[in-house]
Amino acid sequence: MLGPGTATAGWIGVLVLLAGFLVVSRWNVHHHSESIVAQNRMNHLAERLRGAARDEEMVGFAPSDVPTEELAHDLRTTHDVFVAALGDLRDLAPYDVADEVEEINRLHGAVDWAAVELLTTRERSEDHDAAVARFRVAIDRMVAAVDRTGLGARRSLDGGIADLASTDRAMRIWSPIVFVLCSGALAAFAVQMGRYRRRIEHQVFHDALTGLANRTMLNDRMDHALAIARRTGVDTALLIIDLDRFKEINDTLGHDYGDLVLAEIGPRLIGRLRDSDTVARLGGDEFGILLTNISGAPAAVRVAEELAAALREPFHAGALSFDLEASIGIAIAPDHGTTSTELVQRADIAMYLAKTSHSSVALYRPEADQHSPERLALLGELRHAIEADELVLFFQPKNSVRSQEVTGVEALVRWLHPTRGLVPPDDFIPLAEHTSLIDPLTAWVARAAARQSRIWADQGMHLTIAVNVSARTLGDLTFADRMSAIVDAEGVDPSAIQIEVTETSIMREPERALVVMNALSTLGFSIAIDDFGTGFTSLSSLRTLPVDALKIDRTFVSNLRTVAADAVIVHTVVELGRNLGLEVIAEGVEDDETRRALDALGCTTGQGYLWSRPLPAQAFERWMDDGGRRTGSLSSER
Ligand code: C2E
Ligand code: CA
Ligand code: CA
Repeated sequence: MLGPGTATAGWIGVLVLLAGFLVVSRWNVHHHSESIVAQNRMNHLAERLRGAARDEEMVGFAPSDVPTEELAHDLRTTHDVFVAALGDLRDLAPYDVADEVEEINRLHGAVDWAAVELLTTRERSEDHDAAVARFRVAIDRMVAAVDRTGLGARRSLDGGIADLASTDRAMRIWSPIVFVLCSGALAAFAVQMGRYRRRIEHQVFHDALTGLANRTMLNDRMDHALAIARRTGVDTALLIIDLDRFKEINDTLGHDYGDLVLAEIGPRLIGRLRDSDTVARLGGDEFGILLTNISGAPAAVRVAEELAAALREPFHAGALSFDLEASIGIAIAPDHGTTSTELVQRADIAMYLAKTSHSSVALYRPEADQHSPERLALLGELRHAIEADELVLFFQPKNSVRSQEVTGVEALVRWLHPTRGLVPPDDFIPLAEHTSLIDPLTAWVARAAARQSRIWADQGMHLTIAVNVSARTLGDLTFADRMSAIVDAEGVDPSAIQIEVTETSIMREPERALVVMNALSTLGFSIAIDDFGTGFTSLSSLRTLPVDALKIDRTFVSNLRTVAADAVIVHTVVELGRNLGLEVIAEGVEDDETRRALDALGCTTGQGYLWSRPLPAQAFERWMDDGGRRTGSLSSER
């Protein structure tokens, strides 16, 4: 297809051509008319001269009874008229006639002589007859010369008129042809431009990969549908679909396969919807569906369940086939919201509800998620916060249970929100984990930790910094390489960083987690299993995992002295660690009795408020300068 540039150039070309045609034909007509006017003038002058010649002739052949004086007077008059006419011919002729005038003038001289002779021989008849004969010859010659000049003028006048006529004829033929051709060309270019305009419009409102509507168009349609629904009182539903395991396909098989799968989703959904419904791709693996004029929540849920079933059928991309799961959130207007913004927000919350409850379809429930809109707003700000460096790392020491010396630190992120103040990680990490935002967040934390490690090492403080990594990140096969690049960039050895992964996040996708953990371990990072005891890691899998440390979950440690079963668990984990050669770290050590109990159980390392709450880097340095000893108080970190 021709581009808009070609079409524009075509338009200009045709217009220039048209203007050229007009100028040339106008110039042609003008040129011919000018020459006709000139030739006409010449013709007139020649006519005048001829008239004067005829007058002279008539005087010469006047009847014999006209008195001689009268004749002489007439001859002088006609002579003067002739000379004046000849002078005008020479001066006013539109082109050079000097030669012709010269010739006529010479012949006129002969006529003059003959006329004089005519007058003087009037009394002598035989002489007079000869004079008459000579006059006749002279006048004939001169008139012939005058005629020649006049004839030339007449001829070229006829030629000019003929030229003009032929130009006119040509124009009469060419004008419609040029008009039709130019109109045709302009129409063709206009069609081209129209097509281009439609393509641009399509791009603005559609997703390039799937050809489905995009978010802009969905919002547009939604506003429109909601406006109608307000007047007619019908229900409108918005479904938000998020694919559950799409990232896996992208990561393991590459984006090309991912794209093939995404392209297949639209047709599947559309096949189960009415023409009036809109399917849009909102980005990544998220789709939105607008159901107009739906009869209440049960109908919307039914449609959503049908769509979920359609998505559960295996996808085929090339020779491979995959199973995908989808989480669908539903919000209904006017029950759950009356604007498109509200509806999107509520459908989003419903989608999270579906995800967290592991059901494929969930309807928005205001009571299930009281603070969701607020938390979602927070999520929207988080992306900006990461870029704007609004996050800060706090550091909490790990201490030897017996000597109480500091053996390492854990980096714990906080968000220094411009209006909310210090936001704890539990308020935004779980949200970020539901979206791809967790990736840049983890990268930020890793970079900040590596930088701090570098700074402290330069000050002679060599402490391993532990960084928390969530389940989603642990399933990312590129994670180890990205970590390696981060520590390299800060000039830090991987052994200075410990990766904390929870037991449950390993269990979510054990095979992938093992691949990632092995890669991290090979690169030189140490690995700790966080919240140990809350999941169900089998002893045999513990042997195969590349693990350096176990962190006993806080819940067991805090009840150590009161709940016998918890003491047994702590003891078991300590024994297990000892047998496997792993460091065992007790989390949540809040008092010295617990510390002593842990020591008695053989646990070597502890972490908790007994020694310090998590502190900002500088406060942590001061705390270390003070001897790194326990504060012994539960003073607030905030
Ligand atoms: P976690 O990894 O289990 O971190 C330990 C949490 O226990 C921290 O809460 C810490 O302040 C708290 N804690 C430490 N000692 C004691 C104690 O003696 N008593 C009591 N009651 N609590 C203690 P925090 O900093 O609020 O972090 C909460 C969770 O947020 C973390 O649990 C971790 O799962 C997550 N998190 C924090 N930073 C990050 C991060 O950078 N990335 C990821 N993915 N998750 C993070
Ligand atoms: Ca941790
Ligand atoms: Ca923990």
